[in-house]
Amino acid sequence: MEWYALLLIPILLILIVIVRTIQFKPNQFPEMKKKHEIDEKRVVESLSKMLQFKTISSSDKSNEDENEFKKFRAFIKERYPFILEHAEYSEHERGMLFKIKGESAEFPTVLMSHYDVVPINGDWIHDPFSGLVSDTTVYGRGALDTKSSLNAVMESVEHVLSKDKKFKNDLYLAFSGDEEISGPSAKAIVEHLKSQGVKPYMVLDEGGAIVSKMFPGVKEKAAVIGIAEKGYLDITLTAVSRGGHASTPPKDTPLTDLSKAVTVLNQSKAFKLKMTDPVRYLFNALAPHSKSLPIKILFANLWLFMPVVKMIAKKNGGEFLSMFKTTQAFTQASGSEASNVLPSKATIGINYRLRPFETSEDVVRKIKKIIKNPNIDVAITSVSEATSVSDVDEAFRMVQRAINQVWSDVLVAPYLMVATTDSRNYHEICEHVYKFSPMDVSKADLAKIHGIDEDITIENVINGVNFYINLLEQL
Ligand SMILES: [Zn+2]
Repeated sequence: MEWYALLLIPILLILIVIVRTIQFKPNQFPEMKKKHEIDEKRVVESLSKMLQFKTISSSDKSNEDENEFKKFRAFIKERYPFILEHAEYSEHERGMLFKIKGESAEFPTVLMSHYDVVPINGDWIHDPFSGLVSDTTVYGRGALDTKSSLNAVMESVEHVLSKDKKFKNDLYLAFSGDEEISGPSAKAIVEHLKSQGVKPYMVLDEGGAIVSKMFPGVKEKAAVIGIAEKGYLDITLTAVSRGGHASTPPKDTPLTDLSKAVTVLNQSKAFKLKMTDPVRYLFNALAPHSKSLPIKILFANLWLFMPVVKMIAKKNGGEFLSMFKTTQAFTQASGSEASNVLPSKATIGINYRLRPFETSEDVVRKIKKIIKNPNIDVAITSVSEATSVSDVDEAFRMVQRAINQVWSDVLVAPYLMVATTDSRNYHEICEHVYKFSPMDVSKADLAKIHGIDEDITIENVINGVNFYINLLEQL
């Protein structure tokens, strides 16, 4: 081989990179806008009324008022006569389940939401349970998270039924009353569906939304639909004393053992960055729209540049990094009660968020291997594994269509959710579990979720109902 033949390799690589960048085109189909004749005043009033129930869920039962939950359920049943007439209604723990029979039971859909809210914190301008309506907004705890989606589901189904329309497939409306504390109602509803042999074709719950600046160089807003959720794992490391006194301490005590463990865990590279399908799909949907040529070249050629993307992720940190890996946060520590007493036992609490395909078992194995100390006990105190990844196919495109019929110029992309929702319980019985809240939200709006002065624009309230009607027409 002549020496100049070696030059062919870089030239070939550059050619492939150029061709792939040119072929890296957006693939999104334009949709005609569809707006339905809905009673906007009624829709806004329904949400306002829902916000007036103090359905605060709390792991401390004394902070909950069961009567408010009861009153909320009674209100829903009275407010939606068409649904009540057509549906079979049942309660599971605090969960509400409506089943509306369609012509077929083959491809059932479940529309989910929750009607509990997180407690009130900080100083609100108005009463958080006033349901105050202004010219442009509806105000109150739960306006964004997520009585708005419950309202949009109920109003859209009521609208369709009032027009005497029939559904092709069975439709379930499932609302839990303890999502914020990972309570039992969503699980109870899933158990009930399983006992009835129901295998949903599609499940849609709260989750992603329409956001701006989702990807570098992309000017358009993006509607991100969660297709998987990271897992949640709490670990407690415990070390016990092997004797000694603070005045004559041994070289190692429970606290030094644990400090060493924390240091090696913190430095460890065992939790590697890995590209999984939800992240790949997100990049493929958004990167072709980037106005930045270097970004386009990078993401059109992940086969070559993945190490560069991983480097950027490590440098950026935050949510970008957390999409790629299991994260590790040291959250709790305990030792002895007094500064002059050696602890008989000390503990460290660590919170992990598991990336898809890494299990709690994998993590525990890694921890033990890294800390290499038989005196430290590694125990799981709470766990919910990462979900499976939902298919992105015709079911996904139905949601995409319903979005673009309302918001015609937003990009629609699958993504990986870092937060957890009730719909994680459905992955075992459904291959299309999607997480999306039909609202266009700013950074300021997102800060109001679990924050103060939560409100939603009336535009979002109305658009949400139109979104669900568009979806119902396809079911
Ligand atoms: Zn929520």
